[in-house]
Amino acid sequence: MTDRPTTTTDAGIAAPSDEFSQSVGSNGPLLMQDHYVIQKMAQFNRERVPERVVHAKGGGAHGILKMTADVSQYTKADLFQPGRETPLFLRFSTVAGELGFPDTVRDPRGFAIKFYTQHGNYDLVGNNTPIFFIRDPSQFSDFIHSQKRRQDTHLHDHNMQWDFWTGTPASAHQVTFLMSDRGTPRTWRNMHGFGSHTFMWINAGGEKFWIKYHFKTNQGIENFTDAEAAAMAGEDRDFHIRDLFTAIKSGDHPSWTLQVQVMPFEAAADYRFNPFDLTKVWPHGDFPPIDIGTMTLNRNPENYFAEVEQAAFEPANLVPGIAASPDKMLQGRLFSYPDTHRYRIGPNYLQLPVNRPKVPVHSYNKDGAMRYENYGDPVYAPNSYGGPVAAPELYAHEGYGVTGEIIRSAYRLHAEDDDFGQPGTLYRDVLSETDRANLASNIVGHMKSDGPVTAEILPKVIAYWTSVDADLGARVSKLYNGG
Ligand code: NDP
Repeated sequence: MTDRPTTTTDAGIAAPSDEFSQSVGSNGPLLMQDHYVIQKMAQFNRERVPERVVHAKGGGAHGILKMTADVSQYTKADLFQPGRETPLFLRFSTVAGELGFPDTVRDPRGFAIKFYTQHGNYDLVGNNTPIFFIRDPSQFSDFIHSQKRRQDTHLHDHNMQWDFWTGTPASAHQVTFLMSDRGTPRTWRNMHGFGSHTFMWINAGGEKFWIKYHFKTNQGIENFTDAEAAAMAGEDRDFHIRDLFTAIKSGDHPSWTLQVQVMPFEAAADYRFNPFDLTKVWPHGDFPPIDIGTMTLNRNPENYFAEVEQAAFEPANLVPGIAASPDKMLQGRLFSYPDTHRYRIGPNYLQLPVNRPKVPVHSYNKDGAMRYENYGDPVYAPNSYGGPVAAPELYAHEGYGVTGEIIRSAYRLHAEDDDFGQPGTLYRDVLSETDRANLASNIVGHMKSDGPVTAEILPKVIAYWTSVDADLGARVSKLYNGG
């Protein structure tokens, strides 16, 4: 006898062998009745859930948000009350590559956080950039198709990417970010995170504010150059996963300072930029960031599939005191994220340990594939039998007035709603001379690789960068032509 546990079927029945199928004689055929081996093979065939259509490759860790300031004058949300400590799970990712893709490729990084608050789960599904490529969700699948593989060759194709970007000038700010050295962060620990969208905060008195979140790395910004990122992709495809896991395991817990920018509710209407346009930042000079908390990652997952692969983040998980803004990309994501989880993991994904809230759930939803917990009778509302009742008073002040015709159009209502102003400011006023030189060379390296830019698209690319800044356009043109 051994003190090791007995192998069992998934039904808990002792397994007959760890090595041998049941056969008729030593060389005879195998038997249908060998349920243990049949279950083993069948379960293996079903080990993969579909990978995420975007943000497939990633890693994550558990942690905590500790509040360091009092922002109760802006929000009544439980997790942001003075002194509150809220457990969380954070998943980092690349966007375009599949599972197994190298971690260090040029790409935005996902920065998705699930806060297990005392009022239910609050998900903030951000990136390492404060902006995005498009401002209307109707373009999202087109944008992602241009980032993925071609139908004919099954290869990535940079010409396709430049064709989409130059045809969509709203992309210029994010593409400038992406092509800068911040497009290849050295580690996940060495980059900022941003909530990116504008959200509404509501205080206990019912006053409303518009806010943006920034998570500033306390490890300092560190980036790879294009060449370093490419070399690391060959050396260690999982460099970012390994770095985070190793740091946390050794007790080196990475942290970020949480900042918010707060805009008075009424200021949105005539602000110089559309404050709900995901391709724009709010310049810090207009709305200075305030330090409000510290987020620390302090515990590695014990089971990658259960905790990282099955983690399901959804911007629609908003708790009382936080509400959606009219940002069109956010509005689209409110639908899209839970929809993709129902497809990818199944309709009851919210019952999985990493996704379930740490507060009781009292819901009239029931049944469906893989549900293991129902809430019992009565199964309808209203009822006369003591079932749960909603709390409309918690959401009483979220509303705001809107008027207008039903239309399809771009934002062009604010004084500086152009596509090239903010990336131009980034190029001229924020980047150092080294950053600018690297930006131009990263752009040209990208244009010349992996399905290089064709003669048809080339003038559009030069015009795009010239619109960001004439000097940048000239540099790209010169470098491209070997200058
Ligand atoms: P500020 O001068 O007040 O702040 C500049 C911002 O740019 C800081 O957040 C800084 O982050 C960040 N930054 C510094 N170097 C780089 C780089 N190489 N690549 C990308 N970002 C960098 O400027 P404004 O707020 O007036 O904004 C000016 C421009 O800065 C914007 O048009 C936008 O492109 C960019 N930016 C603005 C942000 C915002 O939320 N306002 C956020 C990020 C970028 P750090 O603290 O690490 O130095």
